[in-house]
Amino acid sequence: TDASTHPAEFVKAQQTPEKKSFMFIIEHLDPELGDWSALEYRTIAKECRETKNQFILCSVLQDFVVKAEGLSLGDVVAKRVEELFPPEERDGRRGRRVCLLDPQAKKELSPEDGDLFEGFLFGGILGMRPLPFLLSLVLVSLIGDDPPRDRTSELRKKGYEGRRLGPVQMTTDTAVRVTRMVVQDKILLEEIPYVDFPELKLDEHESTEMPFRYVKGEDGGPVMPDGMIELIKKDADKGFDDFLQ
Ligand code: SAH
Repeated sequence: TDASTHPAEFVKAQQTPEKKSFMFIIEHLDPELGDWSALEYRTIAKECRETKNQFILCSVLQDFVVKAEGLSLGDVVAKRVEELFPPEERDGRRGRRVCLLDPQAKKELSPEDGDLFEGFLFGGILGMRPLPFLLSLVLVSLIGDDPPRDRTSELRKKGYEGRRLGPVQMTTDTAVRVTRMVVQDKILLEEIPYVDFPELKLDEHESTEMPFRYVKGEDGGPVMPDGMIELIKKDADKGFDDFLQ
C-alpha cells in the first residue's frame, strides 16, 4: 500500500497485529511409530513451518526419525513432555503455559486462549483404524468405540489445563490444524467448516468410513495428509485380524 495515496489503508495495515507464534507439542503415546502416525507428524511439521509455529514431537527415539523423514532432528526429542514443559507449578513458579487439547475437557478452545497459552499439547494416538465400511458397522456394534478409548487421560493426569475442540473425535493433525485456526487465525471453533465421518472410495466395490471429524477443504472434501488415501488403501488390503488391535 502506498502511504501517500491511501493514508487510511496504510494506517490500517500498520495496525494489523502480527500473528502470534505458538508451540505445537505432540506426546507420542503409541508403542510404535506406525506409517499413519509418521505421515500425520510430517504433515503437522510442514504446516507448522508454513505458519511460523514451532513443532515439537516428544517421546520419540531418534531411531524412529528414519521413518519420519521430513522431520528435522530438532523437531524430535526423546524426553517426555512433562520434563520439557512441566505442568504449571502452584507455588508461583511459572513454566511456559501449555494447554492440553482434551476431548473430555469442560471448556471449548477459544481465540482468547491464544493470549493465555504459549503451547498446545496433543496426544499422539491413532484412534480406530479404518475398516471396510460394512465391517466397521459390525465391529462398532460388537465392540463399540463410542465413546472412544480415553488415552488422552495419560496427559490429563499430569495436570495440564485442558480445552475441547467440540464433541467429535479428530485425527491428531486435524486437531492441530483446528487449534491453529482458532488461536492464531482467531476463527471461532463453530465457524470452521467440518466434514464428519467421510466415506472414502477405495475402489469400485469398496469404501471405508473414517470415524473422525476433518476440516472441510476448498473442494468440499476432508483435509488429509498427502499420501493418506494411498496408506488407507494399502491397509484395507490387509487381513481382518490386523484391524483388531
Ligand atoms: N480416542 C483418543 C483420541 C485421540 S485423538 C483418546 O484415546 O483420547 C488424538 C489427539 O487429538 C487427542 O489426544 C487430543 O489431543 C486431540 N483431539 C482430537 N479430537 C479432539 C477433540 N474433539 N477435542 C480436543 N482434543 C481433541
